[in-house]
Amino acid sequence: MLAEQRNEMIANCFRPGVKNGHYYPLMPRHGAYLLDFKGKGERFARLFRETWTRIPLYARRCILKHWKSDDVHRFAVYYSPSIELSDTWDGKKPGDAGYAHRGGHSLRFARRRIEKMPDAVVCDLIAHELAHVCQWAIGEDMTSSDAFDIETIADEIMESWGFDAESIDRWAVEAGVTKFVDVDKLTESQKKRLRARAKRAGRGIGLYL
Ligand SMILES: [Zn+2]
Repeated sequence: MLAEQRNEMIANCFRPGVKNGHYYPLMPRHGAYLLDFKGKGERFARLFRETWTRIPLYARRCILKHWKSDDVHRFAVYYSPSIELSDTWDGKKPGDAGYAHRGGHSLRFARRRIEKMPDAVVCDLIAHELAHVCQWAIGEDMTSSDAFDIETIADEIMESWGFDAESIDRWAVEAGVTKFVDVDKLTESQKKRLRARAKRAGRGIGLYL
C-alpha cells in the first residue's frame, strides 16, 4: 500500500476519528487504529497494545510488513490493517470471538464476547488472530488447508510467543459458552468434525473472501 495513501487515511480519517471517539490508536506510527462505532473500544485498544508489545520483534516486523505490502489489492482491502470491534460480521457464527480474514488484512473482534472475557484471555485471543496474520504473511496455504491444521499452527505460533493457547477454550467452558457433548455416542467422523470445530471455537479464520 502506498505511503501517501496511508498518510492520507491517518490525517483525514483516523486522527479526526480518535477525536470523535470512533477510532483508537493501536500502533499509530504504523497507521494501525481500532474502529468501534459504539465508542467503547478503550479497554480493547489498551489490551491490543499490551499484547503487541509481548510479541517478539521478528513477528511484529513480519506482521507490519505484510499489512504494508501490495498484497492488499489481491484481497480487495481498501486499507490494511482494518481492525474493528463489532457486534457481528459476514459469516459470524454464534460464539465466534475473533476473525482474521481477507489475507490477514482484516481483523474483527466480537464486542459482547470481549466484554465478558478477563483481560488475559482477551490478550490470548488477540495473539491468536495475529498468529493467523503471520500465517498469511509467510505464505501458508490458508484457503485449502484443513481448518484444524491452520488452528493448530496458529496455536503453536502464539505459544512460541509466550501466550496461552488454551485459555480461551477454558474460559468458554467456565463461562458456559461451550457445552460438553457425550463424545462416546458419536461416530469417528462426527468426532473429527467436533474436534475441529471445538478447536476453532470463537477464533475463526476467514477462509473465503
Ligand atoms: Zn483461529
